[in-house]
Amino acid sequence: MKAEELIDLEDRFGAKNYKPLDVVLSKGEGIWVWDVDGNKYMDCLSAYSAVNQGHCHPKIRQAMLDQAQKLTLTSRAFRNDQLALLYEELCDLTDSHKMLPMNSGAEAVETVIKCARKWGYESKGVADGQAEIIVCQDNFHGRTLSIIGFSTDDNARENFGPFTPGFKTIPFGDATALEDAITPNTVAFMVEPVQGEAGVIIPPKGYLQDVRRICTEKNILMILDEIQTGLGRTGKLLAEEHDGVQADLTLIGKALSGGFYPVSAVLSNDEVLGLLQPGQHGSTFGGNPLACAVARAALKVLVEENMIENAAKMGAYFLEQLKTIETPIIKEVRGIGLMIAIELEDGTPGGARAICEALMQMGILCKETHTYTIRFAPPLVITKEDIDWAVDKIKTAFADA
Ligand SMILES: *Cc1c(COP(=O)(O)O)cnc(C)c1O
Repeated sequence: MKAEELIDLEDRFGAKNYKPLDVVLSKGEGIWVWDVDGNKYMDCLSAYSAVNQGHCHPKIRQAMLDQAQKLTLTSRAFRNDQLALLYEELCDLTDSHKMLPMNSGAEAVETVIKCARKWGYESKGVADGQAEIIVCQDNFHGRTLSIIGFSTDDNARENFGPFTPGFKTIPFGDATALEDAITPNTVAFMVEPVQGEAGVIIPPKGYLQDVRRICTEKNILMILDEIQTGLGRTGKLLAEEHDGVQADLTLIGKALSGGFYPVSAVLSNDEVLGLLQPGQHGSTFGGNPLACAVARAALKVLVEENMIENAAKMGAYFLEQLKTIETPIIKEVRGIGLMIAIELEDGTPGGARAICEALMQMGILCKETHTYTIRFAPPLVITKEDIDWAVDKIKTAFADA
């Protein structure tokens, strides 16, 4: 079917909760994707960092096909022969004691909220129903009701209330604000190491170290949402490594499956997950053998094929190259690893969307975040030649703008 027909069908039958670029993709390999007319594009979004390993990685695909021939779902009413191995491999890799598998990122966030509250009541001794969790302004943790309840994005919240109580918001990157916001009822502080959806906002140096110290001193849990920053995106396996700290609870998702299947997890570096008893939490699909086999392969290629080191090296190169673009409409170029953003000056006509549309015409797919920011987050398998090719196009797009 033709692109226009497919777009028309989507518009007629689909809820319009997204505003995609009008490119209809039908094939992907590595950093490249192809549309239904056969045009080739470099993917600089990586499905919001879910395909860090590149599209349709052959080894992950093989693991998925092999497992799909054998067993796909048992529910957790029975055990399966993949879950234990994922537990062991992921805990080893991330230096965690325990993990809990879910499917989407939002489910991992919901899970961690439940666990933090439970820890507050049962270990810290907070009075029943009083637990507070501190979060940051401009956070993005997902789309479920309790999560959007503590979002500061009006568009994400408007007319969806009433919301779950028990959350408090402070500015991002401000350790003093955290210290001031903590009360005896505070059980946790949840934060993204780098705010992705907010436009790749990087906190001041040493922020996570300060957070770690404050959380320990005040006996509250440090929760890092690494659903986007984790698994190599910032040039480390987990972004917390840049600051040499360990969170009490870490959330991963997205690239945990290399884009083949929704798999997320809560990782715990202390006994928080040990508080859960049978029947208190669960998911029909969480920890299913297909998900586990895919996740195991996705982790394996990430490490064995040196994608994390490549993200660090190529990220630094890409950033340096983007900084050489000379135009009055760029306000800032910033990034860490292959999580990079170009922020335009406020009021730039057409905003970031116009640049993204122009780049699409030249064979590069990226997506604006908010009005004036363009994010560049290609799969971690990108090479120097690919970056040179892309930077050339990006320069042309800005010269034409
Ligand atoms: C994408 C994302 C989520 C939500 O993940 P879903 O799989 O879309 O539910 C949560 N936190 C962060 C930081 C994310 O980037």
